[in-house]
Amino acid sequence: MRKVIIVGGVAGGATCAARLRRLDEEAEIIVLERGPFVSFANCGLPYYIGDVIREESKLLQASPELFRQRFRIDVRTQHEAVRIDRDAREVTVRDLVSGREYRESYDALVLSPGASPVVPPLEGLQLPGIFTVRTVPDSAGIREWIERHNAKRAVVIGGGPAGALHALLFAAAGARVMVADRSRARLDILARAGIPRVVDVSAEPLVEAVREETCDGADLVVDAVGDQLDAALDVVRSGGRISLFGMNSRARPAVRQNAITRKELTIYGSYVGVNTFPRAIAILERGVIAPRRLLSDVLPLERIHDALARLRAGDAMKVAIRH
Ligand SMILES: Cc1cc2nc3c(=O)[nH]c(=O)nc-3n(C[C@H](O)[C@H](O)[C@H](O)COP(=O)(O)OP(=O)(O)OC[C@H]3O[C@@H](n4cnc5c(N)ncnc54)[C@H](O)[C@@H]3O)c2cc1C
Repeated sequence: MRKVIIVGGVAGGATCAARLRRLDEEAEIIVLERGPFVSFANCGLPYYIGDVIREESKLLQASPELFRQRFRIDVRTQHEAVRIDRDAREVTVRDLVSGREYRESYDALVLSPGASPVVPPLEGLQLPGIFTVRTVPDSAGIREWIERHNAKRAVVIGGGPAGALHALLFAAAGARVMVADRSRARLDILARAGIPRVVDVSAEPLVEAVREETCDGADLVVDAVGDQLDAALDVVRSGGRISLFGMNSRARPAVRQNAITRKELTIYGSYVGVNTFPRAIAILERGVIAPRRLLSDVLPLERIHDALARLRAGDAMKVAIRH
């Protein structure tokens, strides 16, 4: 029985594997693909970036399971061919998830490793927002970047820990951010953390502050309190978005539906369900923001009740308890 290894599992490699199976029902066929996907539609990537194709899964034409079940082909994604020993007829393979390396023998070897993007020697290529498009992760990165930079003017109502994180992330994405709160202590922490405009709503009407900064209203307003939909409707621009993030199970706001219709708004709830949590963790892991700047108090364990009281009163932002 012949054993064939194919390096590269997209257009060339996957087609070759399927064709080989039709020509030889007995052969052992292994496809090594260092990327996370096999047989995806490169040609669809621009449509995915442009949101014509909305779901990443629509780019994938086949999965390793399908290759296994339909063709008896062993597709190993995230496995890279790192060395070829032609005399011994062996490929050294690195499992990119575990880091393990092993050798795989072959009778025939097919190399279909594709190409990498040619990057012209131009000035400014290191600036943010410059990409190459070759793979699904490349395209997902571009989509994420566009999404993050879409809202230019953001207002966060509620400067507690959740609102503060929103504000820092928006600022890191280049948006002009304003945070409104009643707690002077929290607003001071946010100003020190680099939020350019904080509004103490007990002393200054939010509508006027937003109008001063934006003329027509904010592109995105986050209610990080849980009962501020009405205030958000006042300060969002026509065609803008409102994200309802704050948690207040007792709030029963009377909704000004006409304002939503007239301004043609998009209003959505945001919690941890629709993939936001893993994405937020990934952003934090990349060190895009420094959440440590939100730490307002460090207290010993015996003062934990003080810590909770300070948080409830809005005097503290994030409290670390030392034991
Ligand atoms: C944005 C875009 C749009 C396109 N639109 C069209 C179009 O409309 N019409 C058209 O005809 N063509 C189009 N193409 C071109 C077409 O996609 C390519 O010609 C085709 O993908 C080439 O297939 P390939 O298998 O040779 O290489 P690739 O598709 O690049 O696949 C090679 C694979 O090999 C893997 N690999 C490389 N080295 C190793 C290794 N050592 N170990 C394991 N795996 C490895 C890589 O991770 C890669 O996934 C487009 C390409 C792009 C990028």
